[in-house]
Amino acid sequence: MKIICVGRNYRKHAAELNNPVPSKPLIFFKPDTAVLRENKDFYYPEFTRDLHFECELVVRVAREGKFIQEEFVDSYIDGIGLGIDMTARDIQSEAKSKGHPWTLAKGFNDSAPVSRFLDPQEFPDLQNIHFTCDINGKRRQSGFTGDMIFNVKYLISFITQFITIKKGDLIFTGTPEGVGPLSIGDHIEAELEGQKLMDFHVR
Ligand code: MG
Repeated sequence: MKIICVGRNYRKHAAELNNPVPSKPLIFFKPDTAVLRENKDFYYPEFTRDLHFECELVVRVAREGKFIQEEFVDSYIDGIGLGIDMTARDIQSEAKSKGHPWTLAKGFNDSAPVSRFLDPQEFPDLQNIHFTCDINGKRRQSGFTGDMIFNVKYLISFITQFITIKKGDLIFTGTPEGVGPLSIGDHIEAELEGQKLMDFHVR
C-alpha cells in the first residue's frame, strides 16, 4: 500500500506557514513503513529538533482505480478516519529552501499515525465533517472539511489521472491551521465528529 498526502489544502494553514495558496493540489508520498496504528506510542526521532503534528482527515481506498471521475469517487472509498502527518519542520524548511523533495521530512518511520476507520456511510457529505486535535488536553486544531481548497472527490479524481490507487491505500487530505511542535511526553487526542479515534503519547 501507499500513502498519498495533500499539502496546503486549507487556506489558513497555508497562511500560517507563509505558503501561497496552490492553484492545483500539492501531492507527496509517505512509504508504507510510515504507518503507525492502534494508538501506539510515537518515538521522537533523533534527527529533528522541530517535530510538528498535522491532524488530517484520512480516506482509505476500497479498490483499484485510475482516471476516476468525481461522480464515481464514493465507490472507491471504504473507510474514513484520522491521521497525523508528522513533519520534521526543520528538515522540511531546509528542503524547501533548496527546492528539494520533502521525503525525509515527511516520510520517516512512523510519520503517519492513523486511527481505525469508520464506515463511509456514516458520512454522506465528505465536505461536512468536523475533526479536532488536542495536545495535552488543549484544543489545538479544529478542522472542517468544508474549508478544504480541493474537496475529496476532486482530489481523488486529480490524483488518479497520474497515479493508480489500490485497495488499502491511504489518502491524507491536508491539515487545517493550528499545527505546532511536539515534545517528548505530549499526549495527542483526535476526534472525528465527536468520536475519539486517536489517543497516544510521544515518547
Ligand atoms: Mg499535512
